[in-house]
Amino acid sequence: EALKNARAEVGNIRVIGRVRPITKEDGDGPEANNAVTFDSDDDAVIHLLHKGKPVSFELDKVFPPQSTQQDVFQEVQDLITSCIDGYNVCIFAYGQTGAGKTYTMEGTVENPGINQRALQLLFSEVQEKASDWEYAITVSVAEIYNEALRDLLAKEPQEKLEIKLCPDGSGQLYVPGLTEFRVQSVDDINKVFEFGHTNRTTEYTNLNEHSSRSHALVIITVRGTDYSTGLRTTGKLNLVDLAGSERVGKSGAEGNRLREAQYINKSLSALGDVISALRSRQGHVPFRNSKLTYLLQDSLSGDSKTLMLVQVSPVEKNTSETLCSLKFAERVR
Ligand code: ADP
Ligand code: MG
Repeated sequence: EALKNARAEVGNIRVIGRVRPITKEDGDGPEANNAVTFDSDDDAVIHLLHKGKPVSFELDKVFPPQSTQQDVFQEVQDLITSCIDGYNVCIFAYGQTGAGKTYTMEGTVENPGINQRALQLLFSEVQEKASDWEYAITVSVAEIYNEALRDLLAKEPQEKLEIKLCPDGSGQLYVPGLTEFRVQSVDDINKVFEFGHTNRTTEYTNLNEHSSRSHALVIITVRGTDYSTGLRTTGKLNLVDLAGSERVGKSGAEGNRLREAQYINKSLSALGDVISALRSRQGHVPFRNSKLTYLLQDSLSGDSKTLMLVQVSPVEKNTSETLCSLKFAERVR
């Protein structure tokens, strides 16, 4: 246990699994059989039956199918509120299409996910905080598709925003032109997500397909000022619903689809490389190998905190992809 805690401290990176329930869409044939089991006395272990062979993985924690959005949020709450104290935080949802990434991050109207809950919690925490500090919370919503960054809160979302070094010599990065929406009421929270969503929906005929091939980002910035001393803090919470990690058959894909697959593959492996380099405290961290890692550089390095949520489908027909996702989880842990 002590070793586990020590390990969890390294680079402040945690890897948590979440297994979704079996749904109607999984069908009712043998392919929809459950292939995932758990230990009753160890919530960090997951067992997978892949092609008749049992394989086990140990992560920092695994949420079984019956876990609620609230259960998951409870686990990430402290991480989220640390932004108020000036920490930078990244939460990623990783996994094949259909494994539950969007359910965990966005959720549904009845069962909102981490994005909505995080913003609500941050908003109420800074409101209630009785001190000389004053806080401003802003939200940006963006996506990365084929290595191009797009602002989803812009009135006319333009392609290819650039990532630049701040001119103030701080070494920080910023994106000129990226909309930051100031949240001033609970109503604003719903408004900002709706707007980002509408922007994405109107642009694409098949949103499901598009969203499985792009990374969706919600970037929440909490800026605090202590008016009695002039002290300032800035903390950033990056919530990322990653593109689907499924491998695309080389033979089947061509043209656009192949290009998309190559970009996704490149950026997900760049993310894995960066996290494992940070984890093993390697001198060189290859942030610049993808837009995503370059954009999030400030929120992945230094005393930043990272949580990788590895989403898993429980059914037999998905075990090859599940195996890949759990191997990715092990690599970054
Ligand atoms: P992804 O974003 O990884 O492609 P989704 O989040 O869209 O996957 O999930 C696929 C389907 O499974 C959706 O219909 C979603 O509502 C459902 N689902 C995923 N996770 C859960 C969960 N924990 N509880 C209930 N339904 C879930
Ligand atoms: Mg999705």
